Amino acid sequence: MYNVTLIPGDGIGPEVTDAVKEVIAAAGVEIDWEEVNAGTNVMEEYGTPLPEEVLESIKKNKVALKGPITTPVGSGFRSVNVAIRQKLDLYVNLRPAKILAGAPTKFEGLDVVIFRENTEGLYAGIEHNVGDDAAESIKITTRKASERIVRAAFEYAQENDREQVTAVHKANILKLSDGLFKEVAEEVAEDYPNIEFNNKIVDNMCMQLVQYPEDYDVLVLPNLYGDIVSDLCAGLIGGLGLTPGANLNDELAVFEAVHGSAPDIAGENKANPIAILLSSCLMLDHLGEETAAQNIESAIEEVLQEAEVLTGDLGGNASTDEITNEIISKLD
Ligand code: NAD
Repeated sequence: MYNVTLIPGDGIGPEVTDAVKEVIAAAGVEIDWEEVNAGTNVMEEYGTPLPEEVLESIKKNKVALKGPITTPVGSGFRSVNVAIRQKLDLYVNLRPAKILAGAPTKFEGLDVVIFRENTEGLYAGIEHNVGDDAAESIKITTRKASERIVRAAFEYAQENDREQVTAVHKANILKLSDGLFKEVAEEVAEDYPNIEFNNKIVDNMCMQLVQYPEDYDVLVLPNLYGDIVSDLCAGLIGGLGLTPGANLNDELAVFEAVHGSAPDIAGENKANPIAILLSSCLMLDHLGEETAAQNIESAIEEVLQEAEVLTGDLGGNASTDEITNEIISKLD
């Protein structure tokens, strides 16, 4: 029995996290979910979108599964998702992007693992108006944060028999901030002589991933580029409904899908639960339940390959409940 914090989130969050609870139980792993919530739904009761009990629960259980949380655009509170990462110093945003057998995509050959710096860059939240007609956002890059994310990418590559790490930046223009990131990446790479290292300017990286996806393996990027390139990769593998993720540091792990709260389909039983299910497979791997994780991933691939019970984003018309039950029916 594992104790895991569950943050259902809002929008499609509660629907897709319910699916995870069902599938994991059907796969035979016993989890005692400690449910706490964050976001607009709790604002009235707690006076904040991120109650302290959410952070305390994650610190206590060390492992959490999180549904997406809506962030108001422009005005309103700042992103709860970013706040959780920053307050707990979850410095790694891990986002594997692999084309699964049967996934509806025009592309082939992509199997990359993205390491996105998760605590600074343009997400440091330092913004101000300059008079009435201008605004300034400050991008922070430190040696410490750059070094630990690059090292995490190399350690992952080493442990998972990956052959190459690519550092992605815009150091031709941002000579100081991205220049530092690139310089640190080059220094860390020297400690891993068995892993091929190269670097790419972010715009070129985007084109390369579309044209030559098979040439890339582990990517390490500053915060904003990591966010954008992971959505690009989500598009290449068949959409946001298929892309898992995790926020990690050396002690804590918060697993979540790459996608957001999808307000356009929330509450309609239309959301694809596969992205968060694949995130839960990363969680099961993390807990040492590799067999259950493999069982769930194979069941998902079988459902994709049969292409009979698929949600709307994958070209079908099945509901969240129907695809969840179909995945459960394919478990060993
Ligand atoms: P989104 O990912 O919510 O949706 C983009 C498009 O993809 C929509 O058309 C949506 O219907 C579709 N989609 C996303 N996930 C899907 C799924 N599982 N199944 C089927 N279709 C799916 O992105 P957005 O619209 O830019 O953001 C909505 C809200 O989510 C915003 O408030 C944003 O800040 C927030 N957000 C939260 C997180 C997070 O919690 N980590 C991440 C990204 C965005």
